[in-house]
Amino acid sequence: MDDPILARPKPPAEPDGAQSLDPQDWEALRTQGHRMLDDMLDYLEGIRERPVWQPAPEAVRRRFDQPLPRHPSDLESVHEVFMESVLPYALGNAHPRFMGWVHGGGTAVGMLAEMLAAGLNANLGGRDQAPIALERQVLHWMRELFGFPTGASGLFVTGTSMANFIAVLVARTGALGPAVRARGVAATGTRLRAYASASAHSSLARALDLSGIGVDALRIIPLDHRHQMDIRALEAAIVEDRGAGFTPFFIAGTAGTVDVGAIDNLAELADVAQRQQLWFHVDGAYGALGMLAADIAPRLAGLERADSIAFDFHKWGQVPYDAGFVMVRDGALHHDTFATPAPYLGRGQRGMASGSPWPCDFGPDLSRGFRALKTWFTISVYGADHLGQAISGCCARARYLGGRIETEPELELLAPVSLNIVCFRYRGDASDKLNANIVADLQESGIAAPSTTTVGGQLAIRAAIVNHRTADEDMDIFIEATLGIGRRYSARNWRHHDE
Ligand SMILES: *Cc1c(COP(=O)(O)O)cnc(C)c1O
Repeated sequence: MDDPILARPKPPAEPDGAQSLDPQDWEALRTQGHRMLDDMLDYLEGIRERPVWQPAPEAVRRRFDQPLPRHPSDLESVHEVFMESVLPYALGNAHPRFMGWVHGGGTAVGMLAEMLAAGLNANLGGRDQAPIALERQVLHWMRELFGFPTGASGLFVTGTSMANFIAVLVARTGALGPAVRARGVAATGTRLRAYASASAHSSLARALDLSGIGVDALRIIPLDHRHQMDIRALEAAIVEDRGAGFTPFFIAGTAGTVDVGAIDNLAELADVAQRQQLWFHVDGAYGALGMLAADIAPRLAGLERADSIAFDFHKWGQVPYDAGFVMVRDGALHHDTFATPAPYLGRGQRGMASGSPWPCDFGPDLSRGFRALKTWFTISVYGADHLGQAISGCCARARYLGGRIETEPELELLAPVSLNIVCFRYRGDASDKLNANIVADLQESGIAAPSTTTVGGQLAIRAAIVNHRTADEDMDIFIEATLGIGRRYSARNWRHHDE
């Protein structure tokens, strides 16, 4: 630079050793850092050789019941604790035979991107910086994927629980006007009503709780025989509530229910919302990204008419935790629900404080990590089509598993395999207890890790295929282990009968 006033200053003398947290020896840190990276790559490369899960022994649990360390330890020995006491006793959702709940598998690419984000230590609350441009790029991709207009806003959040909460707040502002932010819902004297199906996720009820509207404002609509929200019952409930002095404001459809993987009829829900002038939200936590898969996208018809969508990149998007996203059709309303002026957050036309609006204007968080980076890397490296194939593949594995269950007389499918979730049981006496035991035994064996749910009043063994690593052979291993454990319990019961 020619300007002598603005020339780069000379580097200072050594920083105060007692203050700085940088290493004394960068070479040693570099060597140790490469070792740590290799350890995690080894973990992912060899994941099939590991048990899915094993409970942490008492000695390991005690390892995390220590007083606050006052003195330093070297990185190498702290990392050793991680390798010995944390890594082997994680839940194991990176493993191809983890099938519990709805957990994503992650990728090595996502892990590497997360390291870059941590090194940069970017705070994406706001201000003028390329990381925010990158987050907007992901928003633009999502608008394109979901057929949303250019005015639609979007925000990375922890997960769909937070995304559902944000959607409820924006819909509330839409129904009652921005003044509700100052006065609160109660002062308006309005008794709001929201609607979701009997298999909607519990985070929707919690969103109504957190927003101060109250869980009782959520009216649960029964399911029809396809496990979808009963549309006629929904419309009747809205009419009835209006007659009783309530103010209906919000319909939440689900694209991929947690219990059986059903997709609500989104187009019909959009019609009802339009006729009744209500906000149409879709909880697409894992299912919405089915838009990436050619065979699933048609079943999501109507999603493009939603007022808001909540979904997770950390489930079917295979991005490491956490990476949820909320998208709102009316970006201005979204902004007006959260933007809060503060003198220390003033915006400028130039300098670092430019680039308004900022992400902090669209949600409750001010400081925000760089979740967008691992998502951008994942989409850029694999491409949308390959990610879509991973999603289709999960559904194919689920169909294969469902087919195998149908050919085994000892097993019974409890719900049709609609997407990627398979619910079944081992037939036998005291079937609920038997199946709960089978699931616990499977988990403790480390061979496979399904979870449980209830379908039609019966306890089900539930397998959700969300992991890109899962193959048909994993389904075979899972079925053989289930049959083996089930037979052993049945044989034991027979012995008890004889005694
Ligand atoms: C996982 C899930 C949620 C909750 O999402 P988080 O990311 O765990 O907060 C909500 N709804 C559905 C349908 C889900 O599958």
